[in-house]
Amino acid sequence: MRIAMNRRQLIRALGASAALSAGGGLAACARRGKDADVIIIGAGMAGLQAAMLLEEAGARVLLLEADRRTGGRVFTLDNVDGRPEAGGFEVGPMYARVLAQVQRFGLGLHGWIGDPIRYALHIDDQLMPASQWAQADENPLAEPLRTRPPFALAGAFLPEASPLASLESWLEPAAAQRWDLPYGDYLRAQGADDAALHLLSVGFTADDINDMSLMWMLRQQKVREFSREAGPLQFIDGGMHALLGAMHGSLKGDLELACAVTSIETMRDGIEVDCAGGRRYRADHVISTVPLTTLRDIAIHPGLPELQRAAVSSIPYGHGSSVFLPVREPYWEADGLPPSIWSDGMLPRVMKWQSQQGEYLWVYLSGKANIFCRNNPDDVVMEMVMAELKRIRPATQGRVERGEVMCWSKRPWSMGTFAYRGPGDVRRFGDVINQPHGRLHFAGEHTAVLSMGLEGAMESGERAAFEVLERLG
Ligand SMILES: Cc1cc2nc3c(=O)[nH]c(=O)nc-3n(C[C@H](O)[C@H](O)[C@H](O)COP(=O)(O)OP(=O)(O)OC[C@H]3O[C@@H](n4cnc5c(N)ncnc54)[C@H](O)[C@@H]3O)c2cc1C
Repeated sequence: MRIAMNRRQLIRALGASAALSAGGGLAACARRGKDADVIIIGAGMAGLQAAMLLEEAGARVLLLEADRRTGGRVFTLDNVDGRPEAGGFEVGPMYARVLAQVQRFGLGLHGWIGDPIRYALHIDDQLMPASQWAQADENPLAEPLRTRPPFALAGAFLPEASPLASLESWLEPAAAQRWDLPYGDYLRAQGADDAALHLLSVGFTADDINDMSLMWMLRQQKVREFSREAGPLQFIDGGMHALLGAMHGSLKGDLELACAVTSIETMRDGIEVDCAGGRRYRADHVISTVPLTTLRDIAIHPGLPELQRAAVSSIPYGHGSSVFLPVREPYWEADGLPPSIWSDGMLPRVMKWQSQQGEYLWVYLSGKANIFCRNNPDDVVMEMVMAELKRIRPATQGRVERGEVMCWSKRPWSMGTFAYRGPGDVRRFGDVINQPHGRLHFAGEHTAVLSMGLEGAMESGERAAFEVLERLG
């Protein structure tokens, strides 16, 4: 595995630190008619990681963030019972960069708190303990699938060990030739009938199971395989805001909030960025870390090459909304069923969740339930969730309260949860979205090659920072 890079050694090898320190700094920038050496668009994990590395190397950095807060898809809801995490928070054992930052800032980590998640099944509008599933009339599956819990069904169709040789193999043309096809078609070819496909589609990231490439499933499987061998998931003490605050607080350069970038223009001797409201900034290089969903709305001059433009406009994003509900009394003691629910209805996953700060219900609405969230205001979503919960699990009535809705697809600066690849995207686009365009560089989880999630965001920020340092040095 190649990700264990020593940043300091690499920066020293590039000779960037000395070069930048000699000519850098605010005064030097101003003398050269620039606001910074590097402008970073987006202050999520990718942007913050890139900014920290560039500053360590002596560069003057300006961060432009559209939202009124930093963090992007990392968001601890401090004002909600149990302080739930609305975005990324599970730290995998292979998250070398995240773990290095945790250590650097002296933060703590903890393992899983509380009981493992135990599901009651709600299928075909019947609620039952998972132990009854194999014999249930509502179970439409033939042997040997009947005995598998529906939430573990995908494992019956994917190869037991990932056919990808390494973490980056998903980008190899030979692998893409073989595996970059619609996931649903592959499942059918493996013997999944309509009933199995219905259950496999429950809570799926994409609206339709055939919208996703099998290659993306295999990539996720490969990452999971690596992680399983390395150890358990961990969580940051005090929540993700602790890490976010530490990274943000360590920066020396300027951060402009509520600064939505609308255009980027590369000139012969610099690059300029416009924000909504008329502010304009100039630097030697720009790193864009914004999701493709919002990059599509930024005018880029001169325009991106055709293939890169097509990738930016068409690589799809998953959808998921979280609804967090305070639990006032243990309803599972009232009806004797496992606390969490896995359903093929409008509440695909209801999880009793335990954080360091308390207990709450985490209702994750993906698949068809998310289409409802995207098309309705949050208060209507909350009403739907409360009514549906009461209907399918009457014991929750009076024991669970209204809480908070977080629909990532409706948030203007994300418009989705994470990028994935549709059938044929890997063959067609490869890693074209990572390629610099003159003085404009790209980062963000959607450009990560080896890792995914939080670590993918940091991997991409690091790669883009080194690209820039090589050119500045
Ligand atoms: C519900 C959910 C759960 C997740 N769970 C996990 C998990 O447990 N573990 C894990 O590893 N990962 C998880 N992830 C993924 C992880 O959170 C993301 O991969 C990571 O936070 C992405 O960071 P980023 O910097 O690439 O993008 P972002 O965090 O989206 O940062 C991009 C920034 O750009 C800003 N921006 C957008 N448009 C503009 C513009 N025009 N001008 C200026 N700024 C702009 C945005 O406001 C944002 O701050 C989860 C994600 C979600 C949504």
